[in-house]
Amino acid sequence: MITTTNPATGETIAEYETLDENGIDAKLEAAARTYRDWRTSPLDKRTAVLSKLGNLYQGNTEELAKLAVTEMGKPITQARAEAEKCASLLHYYAEHGPPMLESKFWDLSDGGRAEGRWLPQGPVLAVMPWNFPYWQVIRFLAPTILAGNVGVLKHASIVQGVAARMEELVLEAGGPEGLFQNLCVSSDPIGSVIDDDRVVAATLTGSEGAGSAVAERAGKNLKKVVLELGGSDPFIVMPSADIDKAVEDAVTARIQNNGQSCICGKRTIVHANVYDDFADRFIAALKEAKLGDPMEEDTDLGPLSSEGQRDTVLKQVDKAKQEGCTLLFGAEKLDRPGAWMTAGLLTDVPLASETGTDEIFGPVGQLYKAKDIDEATTIANAIPYGLGSAVFTNDDDEKEHFANAIEAGMTTFNAVNGSKIEAPFGGIKRSGHGRELAEFGLHEFMNLKTLVHP
Ligand code: NDP
Repeated sequence: MITTTNPATGETIAEYETLDENGIDAKLEAAARTYRDWRTSPLDKRTAVLSKLGNLYQGNTEELAKLAVTEMGKPITQARAEAEKCASLLHYYAEHGPPMLESKFWDLSDGGRAEGRWLPQGPVLAVMPWNFPYWQVIRFLAPTILAGNVGVLKHASIVQGVAARMEELVLEAGGPEGLFQNLCVSSDPIGSVIDDDRVVAATLTGSEGAGSAVAERAGKNLKKVVLELGGSDPFIVMPSADIDKAVEDAVTARIQNNGQSCICGKRTIVHANVYDDFADRFIAALKEAKLGDPMEEDTDLGPLSSEGQRDTVLKQVDKAKQEGCTLLFGAEKLDRPGAWMTAGLLTDVPLASETGTDEIFGPVGQLYKAKDIDEATTIANAIPYGLGSAVFTNDDDEKEHFANAIEAGMTTFNAVNGSKIEAPFGGIKRSGHGRELAEFGLHEFMNLKTLVHP
């Protein structure tokens, strides 16, 4: 059984019976069977499912948002925005996806012509996390449906209600049975699912540990993987920046999704010339963030996704103190049922320490002072991760410098970093490899077949 718990109250929500070997086998058989038809289905049939599914996410935003809040505790306003972003992506691929599947042609020196045709490959396994329980899955599912592949989901245990509802919605949207199925299982049988010949590839969003376990098993089976892992993104503030906006966005970046976003400014790096001014305002604004019931409209910060996750963050704060970091305020466990803690801020973080190089997946920020652009860059890159980054500057030369110098899959200027439905998304270094979204995400699990016409 998998038990889900409301992290705001500590109360049990539901119990789900996990699939046994036969249950998993039946799902994989349905996936393989559906793929045999879906792979050659007309594109307008696929885009019709995407459009209807987009409408369902739009039409059921409130219900879906409340379900996510109950299972993983994000503020309701952010949960609604997540459901709406899913709708936008589904509509985007329905409208703009088909041209991404058009063949490319090359004239050959021997007088012939070659065609590169995008063909589907089969059932893809998606191992997904709880932090954006709809978005992370839709980011995989929308291109999967369009490509002519089919999807099998192993969702995080704590969001099994979301997982089950997502499966239902695909059927409601007219998707054939087997197009997208939820495997209600713990991570134990995932290795054998990857081994199964009916599964052609795997994608995972989550921690390094889960990523390397899935990649290792897929590698053994010579199957492709896309990995979106953790990050400890730099958020750089230079003297030419609009400091009011930078402060506001730094707070949003650090506490959005209750501090549990892979791409958000976790390490705030401020140029010495504006450090004192920025730091005073940043600290004040972080302290003002409203902690409370995630169902309330004006809540900025709810509970963490689980008591285990909260305790992990508190342990990281203890470790930070042992490593010589200064806890400026906060990061305290609240004495009430559920996974509650306050936001906090660390400074004096040694770059090579565990605190300086690990991801803190909760509302505890790190503040650094950089004497110049080179030091800001050094601090930004002094981590094993390379997912996102944000730079606040109005100097074009500085923008150009950071565009090339920051080791990350994404840099956003003068705004909170976040994935965009139209643009590729992914990381480098220990944040993973491969890309999601745009044509790059669509093509990851497709066969670019070369056809040679003499
Ligand atoms: P995990 O990586 O453990 O979980 C993500 C998904 O992977 C879940 O579906 C989980 O299943 C599954 N999983 C875990 N271990 C394995 C395994 N060995 N083989 C196959 N599947 C596995 O993340 P957590 O939820 O425990 O969070 C821990 C850390 O992960 C966070 O502190 C953060 O650093 C990172 N994280 C990063 C995210 C991102 O967006 N990049 C999102 C969430 C977490 P189950 O739930 O059943 O364990």
